[in-house]
Amino acid sequence: MKHPPRPNSYRDAWCAELTADRAGSQARVAGWVHRRRDHGGLIFIDLRDRSGLVQLVFHPETAPEIHRQAHGLRSEDVMSASGTVVRRAPENVNPALKTGEIELSVAQVEILADSATPPFPLDDGGDVDETLRLRHRALDLRRAPMRDALELRHQVVATIRDVLDERDFLEIETPFLTRSTPEGARDFLVPARQQPGSFYALPQSPQLFKQLLMIGGLERYYQIVRCFRDEDSRADRTTEFTQLDLEMAFVQEDDVLETMEAVMGAVFAAVGFDVPSQPWPRMTFAEAVGRFGSDRPDTRFGLELHDLGEALAGTGFQVFSRVLADGGVVRGINAGRRELPRSELDGLTELARQHGARGLVWAFVEPAGWRSPVAKFLTAAEIAAINERLQASDGDLVLIVADDQIRAGKALGALRLELGERFGLIPHDRHDIRWVVEFPMFLRNEEEGRWEAEHHPFTASTGDLEQPATLLSRSYDLVLDGSEIGGGSIRNHRLDIQERIFELIGIGPEEAQARFGFLLDALRFGAPPHGGIAMGIDRIVSLIAGRENIREVIAFPKATSGGDPLTGAPAPVDDPQLRELGLRLR
Ligand code: ASP
Repeated sequence: MKHPPRPNSYRDAWCAELTADRAGSQARVAGWVHRRRDHGGLIFIDLRDRSGLVQLVFHPETAPEIHRQAHGLRSEDVMSASGTVVRRAPENVNPALKTGEIELSVAQVEILADSATPPFPLDDGGDVDETLRLRHRALDLRRAPMRDALELRHQVVATIRDVLDERDFLEIETPFLTRSTPEGARDFLVPARQQPGSFYALPQSPQLFKQLLMIGGLERYYQIVRCFRDEDSRADRTTEFTQLDLEMAFVQEDDVLETMEAVMGAVFAAVGFDVPSQPWPRMTFAEAVGRFGSDRPDTRFGLELHDLGEALAGTGFQVFSRVLADGGVVRGINAGRRELPRSELDGLTELARQHGARGLVWAFVEPAGWRSPVAKFLTAAEIAAINERLQASDGDLVLIVADDQIRAGKALGALRLELGERFGLIPHDRHDIRWVVEFPMFLRNEEEGRWEAEHHPFTASTGDLEQPATLLSRSYDLVLDGSEIGGGSIRNHRLDIQERIFELIGIGPEEAQARFGFLLDALRFGAPPHGGIAMGIDRIVSLIAGRENIREVIAFPKATSGGDPLTGAPAPVDDPQLRELGLRLR
């Protein structure tokens, strides 16, 4: 705690404030009974508030009445106690505790509230079923890991605000009840009572509003803002999440990246999270996908992908030759000296399939050639050329996928991560951060036979708009240890270009007008060049805290089901309520 509490009848000090230099003074503290121990006469209570613990001691001879009261105290009862801060005997010092050299010899207590027996212990770090924790979140929040996570989260957000305030950004709120925004996920809808049959959408991001703020001349905007996407929850994703959203006028890529490096650099420094110093390196999308099989590569370890097309030009092995003839790729990784049993190799093949690949070729390099089900289909020269390309030597395990470029990359990228984890190659104590840039502007949706914006359709591009396949987008992602922690872009500030992009992704003028008319309209009145970025606060805090799951850094998260075990939301509503909204359930 930075500031002592204002003295009142409950407390005049935080528990953790009572260190050795306070010995001999009087103090009054308040909090929860963390633990109680009876030691033949003496009663010890560890009292807990947000700052930490202090030991209270109750003497039967000097204060018999209070000692009797202490006897009745149970875990999580709420109390206030005052007395003298006294040094502990040397053999009783607890070096693990800030207040471990002293104890408070209690002269007065007030019991403020009783607690029922908690449904799980709060005084140890033990594992507790998550649903139980979420159902009794108030109790769970009393536990040190949750308190630490929320303190960390506050520090992250406070640092962001400081840096951006210093740089003339204005914190501006944007609406929650609005129209669908084009981030590509499913919307949450809110029925409108005053216009039965019409719905608000909760924002997937404040994208269009922040662009309007730039057109509105506000120059620099940010917001720590909740966004809503109706998607299945996962460890690193939940339906409502918090972004640092930011936009700047008259800027190019370098300006936005430099701003975010200043913000995130300050955040990492404030919380003691060691990343390489700025400027952070930039890697193109093509390189990230080519070398690591991912547009958010974990660059802390090797196992890189290599293209084997040249080594296999003219091969008679049909599995490879057909794919190459169809414009696909053959790529491989050298997994190093490994002896994996057949069952594990089958598991890896299954993993490659789960990521869309048709199969996986494995081979152990031996002095006489390959030990592999496909060895007999390849010539010695082809095997030698692959070995050379992968720098594979005796004993190495080689893994190869032949497929279209995207599937091969994805499958090998997934294998690389799996093997990195399995073989302990990922240095979890070291961090790497970099930008990924030069994304393709559009991805082809083969099923629907049209282009889709890789980032979102307000992103500007470089190249010839008449050749969509070759366009690069002016977007950028920030990647920390293989997790995308943020992304943004320079926008289209010219109406004609924005309209052309809508056309390319199959949004005709009428639909564009209906969905985004308010932005298109504003673009007619002199929009400055602008761009911005959004950072995922939940994910950033969980990575800093080293927690696997973002629910561990959110005070009141939803469960994976999307439901909230605490409040019981979502819940059915009464007929009258539905009627008022003009709704009937099917
Ligand atoms: N609106 C984008 C998102 O939420 C970020 C941006 O382009 O600034 O991902």
